Amino acid sequence: MAMSDNTLKEALEILKQTGVRITPQRHAILEYLVNSMNHPTADDIYKALEGKFPNMSVATVYNNLRVFREVGLVKELTYGDASSRFDFVTTEHYHVICEECGKIVDFHYPGLDEVEDLAEHVTNFKVSHHRMEIYGKCPACQQKEKNMH
Ligand SMILES: [Zn+2]
Ligand SMILES: [Zn+2]
Repeated sequence: MAMSDNTLKEALEILKQTGVRITPQRHAILEYLVNSMNHPTADDIYKALEGKFPNMSVATVYNNLRVFREVGLVKELTYGDASSRFDFVTTEHYHVICEECGKIVDFHYPGLDEVEDLAEHVTNFKVSHHRMEIYGKCPACQQKEKNMH
């Protein structure tokens, strides 16, 4: 896919510019993130790549993800459960989350800037960002439920 090739190239360029060394593992983790649409956990990435890098541990994956987060390439999504999920940052987007199976799907909506402005105005906070999540039941889980009846 040409588009994700480009995105990967851009991401590698950002790493180079920030002086982060690009090891084969980092390259592979980044590539996995760019191509994955399912907001993987460190464990998911580890399982997908352990065949390629037998000496790699989940902790290594996690540490690399942290490096990516610090340069702003990935976002760490914590939804109150033990395992964080990681999202490759392309454009600003929101998430809809399945309450049954935990699936996270991206959707785009104009940024809620007015809400930030209002919050700043009424509280005198210096607002940095916001987080909005929509919850519900994904199509697969709806189907499962239908089949049970
Ligand atoms: Zn679901
Ligand atoms: Zn996302």
